[in-house]
Amino acid sequence: MTRLHSPARSCTGATIPGQNRNREINMFFDPSWFLFAIPPLLLGLWAQSRMRSAYGKYSKVKSARNITGAQAARYLLDANGLQHVAVERIAGQLTDHYDPRSKTLRLSQGVYETPSLAAVGVAAHEAGHALQDRDKYAPLMLRSAMVPAVNIGTMLGPILFIIGFLLAGASSMLGTSLAWLGIGLFGLAAVFSIVTLPVEFNASKRAKVVLAGQGILSPEEIQGVDKVLDAAALTYVAAAAQAIGQLLYYVSLMNRRR
Ligand SMILES: [Zn+2]
Repeated sequence: MTRLHSPARSCTGATIPGQNRNREINMFFDPSWFLFAIPPLLLGLWAQSRMRSAYGKYSKVKSARNITGAQAARYLLDANGLQHVAVERIAGQLTDHYDPRSKTLRLSQGVYETPSLAAVGVAAHEAGHALQDRDKYAPLMLRSAMVPAVNIGTMLGPILFIIGFLLAGASSMLGTSLAWLGIGLFGLAAVFSIVTLPVEFNASKRAKVVLAGQGILSPEEIQGVDKVLDAAALTYVAAAAQAIGQLLYYVSLMNRRR
């Protein structure tokens, strides 16, 4: 999960790319951009502020067992046969993620060393990704497989779309085809952000199950974890809404050009 500064980031080691660049191109084109972009953008801001406030609140609430995020992660991994998964510290705030390639769980300083409900919740969520990886959880596998194509697509998508869109103005078949190819690549990014949702929701669900099952937190404490993880989940919903909004905007531009 959970990067405060950008809902476009995900905690399974990959960026949901292209959003900043797309925003610049969007502004360049048409006032209807606001219709497609502003509602998801507002949702994103609201989600981030909820995330900040939930994290801020529960990072001050100590866990009864006085266990840090790093200790919780290590304990949960070991208890689930994942002794080979390393737990490392990483710089930044809420930069926490699980890297499926190197089988490493990286926790931000605050999560790593703080014995708070928020820290334990975030660490357990990341351990949830490691469990998904162990179980070959289908949405995680699909998401990882999509990363290279999505990275290339979000690099080429805007370029193809702009060239195609400008050429299509001169009613060129080639331009129209290029523009739709660009839109297809945006579509790939949108699908990617949608596939991210079950991955994130499921990691949080696993986190709560293992925290309760291993007796690391009490049921009352898990309610605090719930608040933090639910707020984090909302940032992913907002990111998906932004990607879908962008896609619809480009489709609407093309449709009006016909
Ligand atoms: Zn996550």
